[in-house]
Amino acid sequence: MTPSRMRSAVIAAIYLLFFVLLHSSSAFGVNAPMKVIVTGAAGRTGKLVFSCLIEDPRFQAVGLVRTEKSAKKLVKTTKCGLDHVIVSDVTELFTENGNGIPKGLDGAEAIVICTSAVPAISKRSVVKAMLKIPFNVVRGKKAFNFRDLRFLYKPGQYPEKVDFEGQIAQIDLAKKLGMRQVVIVSSMGGTDPSNFLNSIGKDKDGNGNGDILLWKRKAEKYLIESDLEYTIIHPGGLRKEATAPEELVLDIDDKLLKNEKRSISREDVAQLCLAALTVGRGKRVSFDCIAREVEEGKTVKSAEEALTEFLETGKTADYSL
Ligand code: NAP
Repeated sequence: MTPSRMRSAVIAAIYLLFFVLLHSSSAFGVNAPMKVIVTGAAGRTGKLVFSCLIEDPRFQAVGLVRTEKSAKKLVKTTKCGLDHVIVSDVTELFTENGNGIPKGLDGAEAIVICTSAVPAISKRSVVKAMLKIPFNVVRGKKAFNFRDLRFLYKPGQYPEKVDFEGQIAQIDLAKKLGMRQVVIVSSMGGTDPSNFLNSIGKDKDGNGNGDILLWKRKAEKYLIESDLEYTIIHPGGLRKEATAPEELVLDIDDKLLKNEKRSISREDVAQLCLAALTVGRGKRVSFDCIAREVEEGKTVKSAEEALTEFLETGKTADYSL
């Protein structure tokens, strides 16, 4: 072989090597990180899911938040770059006034939905409850009755809009972007229309914009009727991480509501979302979860182990209930 032919062969071999490295990194055992969209990423659970994902080299996270203010909050708390955050109101995604698919979401393989309508305390109800204090004291009753407080949703940001229409829009977004998997952080209690949470946003006569659990469940039904892979997580009451060791308990159809303690930390829920993106891939499952205190020194299963064990049972929520 002449020296020039030799040089051409070497150059061709180098090009080939670069091509293979670029297009087939998995052939060398290096998997490209999975791009995941986290919505409600500035919320209390969404922020934890987003933080876990940006610290994990297996994932490339994009946070979707409702406002510029939430975007700044997320950048500040997680120290992520602004390019990891997209501002979009999920109730406006595919409406007439909406801008359609936000830029920067192409190539995402999964979406973790952590959005939710957020009730705020009615100031008027606070004033009313305060004015009642002297009368309650005179009558020997509890001075401040928390039951007098009312919680309301902001106009256009009530459960039917955010937890139903907004979630449908996010599921449609997943379909339009060709994603495979949807993970939803929902809530336990969806089988019971008389659950207290459904009364938030309604007046004494039951009028108003409430029924958060019912709207969430309706959106979940839309998802399970699709061809997408999904993990729907119904946590019990959300709280901070416990100081004592805890184990995850997973079940279905609100059976865990019978427990006296039925809460779970947002950290545990975030870990279950990550588990959904790994061991839950390719699955279609919906379950409830709480955390139970265990004695010091007991080995506690990780979220991935707990979800793997649960998946082996073949159980999933019954949406005909
Ligand atoms: P959270 O802090 O209330 O966060 C909800 C997030 O949704 C907020 O960041 C909010 O954005 C975002 N959001 C609301 N409307 C939106 C819209 N139209 N477009 C885009 N984003 C929107 O949530 P959390 O308390 O961690 O709860 C996470 C999930 O668990 C929710 O589905 C909740 O219902 C459920 N859950 C809660 C409890 C509990 O005890 N709280 C119990 C069981 C289940 P902004 O920050 O911009 O307002």
